[in-house]
Amino acid sequence: MNTNLESRLELVAQAHAFPSRLLERLGQWVETAPEERLYRINPLLWAAEQQADENLVVDLFLHATMAGIFALVWSVLCTQCGMLITTPGGLRALAHTQRYCKL
Ligand SMILES: [Zn+2]
Repeated sequence: MNTNLESRLELVAQAHAFPSRLLERLGQWVETAPEERLYRINPLLWAAEQQADENLVVDLFLHATMAGIFALVWSVLCTQCGMLITTPGGLRALAHTQRYCKL
């Protein structure tokens, strides 16, 4: 395993008593998952795939984010087509009443 990833997983392990097997699976997944899976991660889906407890996995991903393994970015999904809505100004630039979907 990449030593940088390994040291960050060690930070996660020190911060919270996650099962070591779950940490190993996360490390293996980060190293082997296709980039499109790593770009936008759904921890609940990951929990289901790993047959792991959802709350534990959400905690795991939050701790992994604090350790620098992931970056947490809030975004808005179009309620009509499910596409990710992005704006140059970020979420603060979104108007509550404006429609964004061009489909
Ligand atoms: Zn849309």
